[in-house]
Amino acid sequence: MLRRALVAASRSSVLRRVATDVPITRNVAQRFVAGETLEQALAATRELNAKGLSVTLDHLGESVTEEAVARRSAEVYLEALGRIAEEGLDCSVSVKPTSLGLDVSVELCDELVGSVCAEAARCGTHVTIDMEGSDYTQATVDLVVRLREAGHDNVGCAVQTYLHRTPDDVRRLTGMGASLRICKGAYAEPDDIAYQDDDEVSDAYVRCAELVLTGETFGRFATHDHRIIGRIRNLARRLEVGPDRYEFQMLYGIREPLQLELLERGERCRVYVPFGDEWYPYFVRRLAERPANVVFFLRALTGRRA
Ligand SMILES: Cc1cc2nc3c(=O)[nH]c(=O)nc-3n(C[C@H](O)[C@H](O)[C@H](O)COP(=O)(O)OP(=O)(O)OC[C@H]3O[C@@H](n4cnc5c(N)ncnc54)[C@H](O)[C@@H]3O)c2cc1C
Repeated sequence: MLRRALVAASRSSVLRRVATDVPITRNVAQRFVAGETLEQALAATRELNAKGLSVTLDHLGESVTEEAVARRSAEVYLEALGRIAEEGLDCSVSVKPTSLGLDVSVELCDELVGSVCAEAARCGTHVTIDMEGSDYTQATVDLVVRLREAGHDNVGCAVQTYLHRTPDDVRRLTGMGASLRICKGAYAEPDDIAYQDDDEVSDAYVRCAELVLTGETFGRFATHDHRIIGRIRNLARRLEVGPDRYEFQMLYGIREPLQLELLERGERCRVYVPFGDEWYPYFVRRLAERPANVVFFLRALTGRRA
């Protein structure tokens, strides 16, 4: 119930305006966002790399309806990739289709994501396309298929294990050689297309992980759930798949000790580092994932008022 309300709130432009005008919201959001500028994101990347953690940078933005805004976001990615190469950072990029123009036109999105993939290839890194709400699932899968058919072999996408359709998407995309990020899913989806029960989502997660680990592609397991992490590590051992064939991924500011513990255990771990001034929907989805975050946020607000 709370999750549904928050996911709906993440889409409200009125709430976005109110929240981003309140400095305390910005302060609390900083727990999950590296900063508003590329320089701040690169500083966070250097720090994480120094600890042995890989990074994927995400320039925040979604539901863009103006071509000029989508083009500006693509330029930020091109600049980020140039800096990643120049500084030799262990860093890839993550992009949202609706940030790079999918709501304007499919052609614009193909052009902009294609340009990011080409620059990423030149810089020796890869691109993961984030998976947004279910209205965009098919369009995102189609986008990956077109990009790969056009020769961009450094692109893959996220898939959400709460969706019933996901195993078919995993088979299709890994069959084309795409490396996928497996995650539970951060939106609120109806029960005719998505599992609602946590255990069912987790079991589906491990089934998708098995599809990836038994295939030829690199697996990217995005979760902070230590039970799933344990199940995947056991699965990898049973299938005799080494840590060079997969990595774990976590979000900036969440479960940092677990990220370092994984490195100590010989696993790879990549941190998703979001930056930019369009942090409101991302921040509210992080609140939706964990009621304790809402309490933390409300305490900060009341503390401020007192
Ligand atoms: C690298 C990465 C990329 C992602 N990309 C996408 C994407 O493209 N599309 C998409 O729909 N979803 C994406 N997600 C979000 C994902 O779908 C889940 O909503 C999110 O990861 C929470 O699920 P969980 O597997 O961590 O398990 P949970 O059971 O939700 O969490 C396990 C534990 O992790 C901690 N935790 C989890 N979330 C939070 C939080 N917000 N704040 C504080 N602690 C927390 C808590 O201790 C919790 O008990 C991504 C997640 C990661 C890590």
